Amino acid sequence: KAAGRGTYRQFEPEMGAQLQAHQQMKLALRRALDRRELELYYQPLVSLRSKKVSGCEALVRWRNPERGMVAPENFIPIAEETGLIVPIGEWVLKEACREAAAWPASVSIAVNLSPIQFRDKKLVKAVAAAIAASGIDPARLQLEITESVLLDESDHNLELLQELRNLGVKIAMDDFGTGYSSLGYLRSFPFDKIKVDRAFIRDLPSGKESLAILKAVAGLGHSLGITTTVEGVETEGQLETVNAEGFDEAQGYLFAQPLPASEITILIAAGLI
Ligand code: C2E
Ligand code: MG
Ligand code: MG
Ligand code: MG
Repeated sequence: KAAGRGTYRQFEPEMGAQLQAHQQMKLALRRALDRRELELYYQPLVSLRSKKVSGCEALVRWRNPERGMVAPENFIPIAEETGLIVPIGEWVLKEACREAAAWPASVSIAVNLSPIQFRDKKLVKAVAAAIAASGIDPARLQLEITESVLLDESDHNLELLQELRNLGVKIAMDDFGTGYSSLGYLRSFPFDKIKVDRAFIRDLPSGKESLAILKAVAGLGHSLGITTTVEGVETEGQLETVNAEGFDEAQGYLFAQPLPASEITILIAAGLI
């Protein structure tokens, strides 16, 4: 399956081993929630105007006794395939809102939603429950979705997005520019925020094409009244460029890596980020 649609391979002995490893991973992931092996790290988003932390994004980690620290790219796909992303996603929402309640009200909390979570009838309820349990202002919660949410069952998902929005939360389009028809989606749903993918930041300040695209996105965001954010800022040169283009917000290793809640709370309280 990993090789893509329409391709097939002959069964080879090592594929048996791969399949077994995959099965074991599924089993271990199934137990991860009960065993409290999931953790949230938080990465700050910085307002380019005030230079202050405007929010933090919750990024899930899996700390397993046998496997060590597992990155989301290595287990989110399995969680999606098995449907485990639904209970995991609910836990992420609850935990992120709970921790954000201890931060200043000016700091928002961003949570990533998988397209699979949109197939869950209880998604809107789960979001409402996380807000209610934490007591945070719903406007502080930002749900990050990718274009794939709008790609399949788009009408159903558009309705769900509207219902989520009616709760008072903000909706951000994550990894903007990596999908097929980003611009069209901006017309079909009133996003609150665009987060331009790291791919357009990587080759700055010299990359002419990236720069031209960033200029266009910044202009688009401003004329549509959408907050513009960039991810993956690693150098001063990249920061100067996005600043000059008028982006509202930036995130990246230049400011801070994703950090455990205890560390982020200290940094925020000390006004260090
Ligand atoms: P994302 O939402 O686009 O998150 C940004 C990713 O870029 C994070 O990786 C972050 O650590 C990384 N990053 C941030 N700044 C920089 C930088 O300056 N340079 C570079 N090279 N990378 C940077 P992470 O934490 O490994 O997460 C990867 C992806 O996994 C996320 O991409 C998101 O799509 C997904 N993910 C993470 N947590 C969750 C979750 O709770 N639920 C769901 N459904 N997906 C999640
Ligand atoms: Mg994200
Ligand atoms: Mg992103
Ligand atoms: Mg990304």
